Amino acid sequence: MLLLSTLWHREGMPQGARRARGSSQDAKKTASGKPLKKQEAPLPSRTARAASLDARAGVTAADFALRALGEWFDRQRRVLPWREDPSPYRVWVSEIMLQQTQVATVTPYFERFLKRFPTVESLASASEDEVVAAWAGLGYYSRARNLRAAAQAIVRDGFPRDRVGWLALPGVGEYTAGAVLSIAFNETEALVDGNVERVLSRLRRIRRPASSLGFSLGSSRGDSAYKARLWRTARFAVTRGAQLGVAPRVLNQALMELGAMICSPKSPKCGVCPVADSCRARKQDEVALFPQKKKPKEWIDVSERVLAAVDSRGRWLVRKNAPGEWRAGLWDFPKYEDFEGKTVEVLAEAEVRYVVTRHRVRRLVTLVRVKDFASLRGSEAWGFADSGGGAEGAEWRIWDEQAGEQETAGVGFGSAFWKSLERIRNCTL
Ligand code: SF4
Repeated sequence: MLLLSTLWHREGMPQGARRARGSSQDAKKTASGKPLKKQEAPLPSRTARAASLDARAGVTAADFALRALGEWFDRQRRVLPWREDPSPYRVWVSEIMLQQTQVATVTPYFERFLKRFPTVESLASASEDEVVAAWAGLGYYSRARNLRAAAQAIVRDGFPRDRVGWLALPGVGEYTAGAVLSIAFNETEALVDGNVERVLSRLRRIRRPASSLGFSLGSSRGDSAYKARLWRTARFAVTRGAQLGVAPRVLNQALMELGAMICSPKSPKCGVCPVADSCRARKQDEVALFPQKKKPKEWIDVSERVLAAVDSRGRWLVRKNAPGEWRAGLWDFPKYEDFEGKTVEVLAEAEVRYVVTRHRVRRLVTLVRVKDFASLRGSEAWGFADSGGGAEGAEWRIWDEQAGEQETAGVGFGSAFWKSLERIRNCTL
């Protein structure tokens, strides 16, 4: 264990790391030719005799853990659509979608998005409306806009081959750069996401400085020291793994998979964990204490009011949020202010509450009936014209959900709209 501590704590990176050739992940079978198994099997722990033989052969406990992690990933990894063909385009799109979103949610969206935009060229040439519409329901819509802008840069200059190049693209941070470079290009690049943070902080008992726990001021400095240590540890793991023949794409995905499937936040399955022998938190019986939590999230309370205007044919008046407005580019019900002072027949009111990012939203939906929608477009009675009305730059249209896909082509509704529609449908028309 002493050697393990020395290695994992070493500040400097091992020099001259060789890139591991290929990836055992590319094959759908294990190296021994056996098909992938999905069930979790208890792993043998490292015996004293094996440890002694390893020590004589110069194999450290850290090396053992890294190899065990790679072998475990080969045996137990989930089959996910972006893993089966890890091209730069597919890996990049999946990583952007997976930011703040669960794998189970992303999977159907990923498949639909790739069907609609099968290549980076098709994504680059699509309109923003088309991309946002294909993204609708995933939330965090700036990701869709950044994806399209980055696709245009990639079509012009090609896929970047280093971290600096990826970081220059809109919507790409340190984690995404490391993920695409290691998974798609098998480069020896590290990554740290929430899953990797949990695994590494438990394995090495990496603590947050007290200043970032909310006990004193100066939290951002304390937090960056903590993050820097996680990244150093992740870099060491991927570099040493490559030297041992564990491909970077395998090692990084194994760390993430371990966090997702075994080393879960509340009930880690330490009994079947491939690196349990090396886990400091487990040895100290402190697993539940890691990772240490940051200062609690500061919520922003938002109140909004929208008007759900429906005509006798069951069609809805919708409005596209203007640039600069919250949820810009998404279609939604009109804001109540757009009709302030107008006389309308109110049928019902309903309240919708939901949480998005750091916002706790309370939305009041007022259902009103309109006799003849089409004739009202441009009418002074409603105060908007075809080209706009209400907020400057907002677009309007009459949406007929019964008309099918053609009617909604290029119209991306956000989750706030669908929540409001579902809620208001429960009211009597
Ligand atoms: S032994 Fe338990 S706490 Fe440690 S890495 Fe494995 S699952 Fe996580």
